[in-house]
Amino acid sequence: MAKDAKAAGAAPAEKKPESKDKGKAGAGKKAAAGASAKKDHYVVQGGKLERKGRNCPKCGPGVFLAEHKDRNSCGKCGYTEFKNKK
Ligand SMILES: [Zn+2]
Repeated sequence: MAKDAKAAGAAPAEKKPESKDKGKAGAGKKAAAGASAKKDHYVVQGGKLERKGRNCPKCGPGVFLAEHKDRNSCGKCGYTEFKNKK
């Protein structure tokens, strides 16, 4: 009989599953949308950090030069390094 009483009491609580859906929608958010840009500039191989591209000599390591067709340039301080055409 106790079970019957629980079932009857559970009927008004049908709204609860709806709140679960709300939580799912929040968890489905993509958080790492803009975080992958800097990762493209280096690769970790066997515990070593291998940097692709070049660092800015003015700003130091951590600031990468943007690669262009004929030059690399720093977006932070404006340093530009022209590539040598062979
Ligand atoms: Zn710089």
